[in-house]
Amino acid sequence: MGSLADLHSHSTFSDGRLTPTQLIDLAHRNGVRIMSLTDHDIVDGLPEAFEAAGRHKDFTLIPGIEMSTDVPGNEVHILGHFIDWHDDAFRRRLAQLQESRLGRARLMVEKLIQLGKPVTWERVQSFAGEGSVGRPHIALALVEAGHVSSINEAFDLYLSRNGPAYVERDRLGPDEVVELLLGVGGMATLAHPRELFASGSLEGLLGQLASAGLTGMEVYYQDYTPEEITTLRALAARFGLIPLGGSDYHGLGGPQQREPGNIPLPMEPVERLLSLARERGALERALIAHFR
Ligand code: AMP
Ligand code: ZN
Ligand code: FE
Ligand code: FE
Repeated sequence: MGSLADLHSHSTFSDGRLTPTQLIDLAHRNGVRIMSLTDHDIVDGLPEAFEAAGRHKDFTLIPGIEMSTDVPGNEVHILGHFIDWHDDAFRRRLAQLQESRLGRARLMVEKLIQLGKPVTWERVQSFAGEGSVGRPHIALALVEAGHVSSINEAFDLYLSRNGPAYVERDRLGPDEVVELLLGVGGMATLAHPRELFASGSLEGLLGQLASAGLTGMEVYYQDYTPEEITTLRALAARFGLIPLGGSDYHGLGGPQQREPGNIPLPMEPVERLLSLARERGALERALIAHFR
């Protein structure tokens, strides 16, 4: 059974396979009625997403983003919801991050050539389209070239953080990202914390980010088990965070993929997020369905 809400998803404007319109129509068909598009480091898909959401009379769209940040040894992703995505300084910062993604992806292509697993920059670019370029686009080029049989294998053999073709990129620290998101009136949520929990670094990070103004933590996510959900919920409560979640749907397949809405996210924490947005005057940045 699906949830009425899904606060984490990707479109062709980053590394998702569906356009914002296709994504929202799919989510709507799945029964989702409150959704956020959270492309990686980019907000350019939001105009189309709002148009698509507006065609459904019963659909609430929250403007969102997922920002990549770095702590030693780990990647940390932070979701921003209800952001003022028209803000000029914010958009300039995002443009810089796009530039850095491009340079880094080119370096990864060079590394693959040196490793004897050549892919062309043209193919990577064409998988990326107009949007934000990321490792999944390089993975698709590796699959197409026959060097690997799946996207997961591309990550396992070459592209993961410790893989031979991995290249770091310009990233902000997680507390800087929380500050940036709060600065544009958004609410910040720590994404998919399982690996951080496993490495023992989650509590320290939550302490740091809670004082920076973090609002939520993803608890209902893809293949997280009921036991993991219980553990993460307790941690969220301890740090005063709203236990949120989403499918992180990319449309790229793989065993971990969940359809939009196919996560056990209850409405109570979503209502808490909406109330907080109302209190902070951020609710007007969402498209709110009339039935609400
Ligand atoms: P990037 O933003 O270019 O660093 O790429 C990060 C994205 O790659 C993540 O958001 C996921 O969508 C995807 N990703 C990361 N690790 C894996 C993996 N092991 N298998 C498949 N996809 C992955
Ligand atoms: Zn992604
Ligand atoms: Fe992520
Ligand atoms: Fe994501």
